Amino acid sequence: MTVTLITGANKGIGFATAEQLVKLGHTVYVGARDVERGEKAAAALGARFVQLDVTDDASVSGALAAIDAAEGRLDVLVHNAGVLGQGTIDGPTALRVFDTNAVGIVRVTEAALPLLLKSSHATVVTVSSSAGSFWAVNNPERLEYRLPTALYSASKAAATMLTVQYAKLYPGIRFNAVEPGTTATDMTADFGIGRSPEESAKVVVRLATLGPDGPTGTLQDEDGELRW
Ligand code: NAP
Repeated sequence: MTVTLITGANKGIGFATAEQLVKLGHTVYVGARDVERGEKAAAALGARFVQLDVTDDASVSGALAAIDAAEGRLDVLVHNAGVLGQGTIDGPTALRVFDTNAVGIVRVTEAALPLLLKSSHATVVTVSSSAGSFWAVNNPERLEYRLPTALYSASKAAATMLTVQYAKLYPGIRFNAVEPGTTATDMTADFGIGRSPEESAKVVVRLATLGPDGPTGTLQDEDGELRW
């Protein structure tokens, strides 16, 4: 049985990813910062719940300790939690966006590594964004060229770079970043854009279910590797 943790899995792309991985037979831990929302999502999915706020060290270590006690290892980690931080560009907003989208990846990865290293087929997927890709934001033919998301884009560039650096540090674990596709979730509701979370979750699931000789250190979308 594959043991999987997904952060921010109480709604949106994370919830849809959890749903598909439960159907594939994974033991899925729904990480959510809010107990009520998380427990409700886990019950609806037939998954397990762990309280996990990616901006809170104690919450992150508590979540991984609970998985360690129950499973003794972690096979798949999906860094999905994220915020847009739309509007104001200032220090406090930048700190919040980076704390969630980039520092959160460091917190959760570091707490998860001892458990990932006990797995025979560990895989880490970072739900990043091509909004953090130099290539995409400088390409007038791409949606990212027009997105007014400076802090979000910068934090996702950091998320992708962390993924590449972790891949170099831990060659025995696959670390890949994914652009899931523009998706209609609470995050994008103000823009009124995007396809269903179920469609985008398929891209995340493909990377979360890579075989042992799958790629590592890449940024991918549904068509394969992306430049960034
Ligand atoms: P969403 O529906 O707003 O979901 C975001 C999830 O992250 C929610 O479960 C939210 O929990 C959680 N979260 C936020 N801050 C957290 C924290 N500090 N600790 C733990 N969980 C936290 O948005 P989404 O579109 O599904 O986004 C999922 C991921 O996809 C994000 O990383 C996003 O950047 C990425 N992405 C989305 C798109 C798109 O078009 N939607 C495109 C590219 C990449 P609460 O319910 O408690 O707020």
